[in-house]
Amino acid sequence: MAECIFCRIVAGEIPSEIVYRDDEVVAFRDINPQGPVHVLVIPVEHIPGIREADPSKNALLGKLMTVAAKLAEEEGIADSGYRLVINQGPDAGQAVFHIHLHLIGGRKLSWPPG
Ligand code: 5GP
Ligand code: ZN
Repeated sequence: MAECIFCRIVAGEIPSEIVYRDDEVVAFRDINPQGPVHVLVIPVEHIPGIREADPSKNALLGKLMTVAAKLAEEEGIADSGYRLVINQGPDAGQAVFHIHLHLIGGRKLSWPPG
């Protein structure tokens, strides 16, 4: 989707600090980090949100999780812990409608979230 900011990051049309890339998944640092580590893990395929993901996407969505876990090891936050978050819809404050998994860590995270 030409107007999607994350599709444009995948295409290299908008600069970002990419930390992982393969044919299906791209991960890059969040422009407005909410912790010392804040990486967004996204599918190359444009899926607006978890609401639009049917079971044919199970493997792809699972891969977002395992890529995030691998990145957490590389970023040095696997022992201290981290949070994986998908914001869906208005009450969660979803701002970008290309599904993304937030990997946030490097500080103590409060619960419940705000
Ligand atoms: P959401 O609220 O949709 O779950 O999160 C969207 C995230 O994308 C936010 O954390 C925001 O900082 C990040 N973001 C928005 N635009 C850009 C951008 O152009 N580059 C990068 N690296 N992150 C972005
Ligand atoms: Zn997109």
